[in-house]
Amino acid sequence: MISPELLDILRCPLNPRNAKLVLVGDYLECEKCRLRFPVKDDFPILVAEEATLPPGCEAIKDLPCHHEGKR
Ligand SMILES: [Zn+2]
Repeated sequence: MISPELLDILRCPLNPRNAKLVLVGDYLECEKCRLRFPVKDDFPILVAEEATLPPGCEAIKDLPCHHEGKR
């Protein structure tokens, strides 16, 4: 289980300044871009390439965090 303290400091790797993550079932989901990161052995894999894209989104470059994180 991921502790609330850890969850509080984790951010979407595409947008580390602004995008928090929330626990959704077995995944960590970015509250902004809805990218879903897998959790393996209680260890979140915060790598965009390993994450699941939200429905309707076909590429990481189309995510809002991808744009915001570059500003
Ligand atoms: Zn994000």
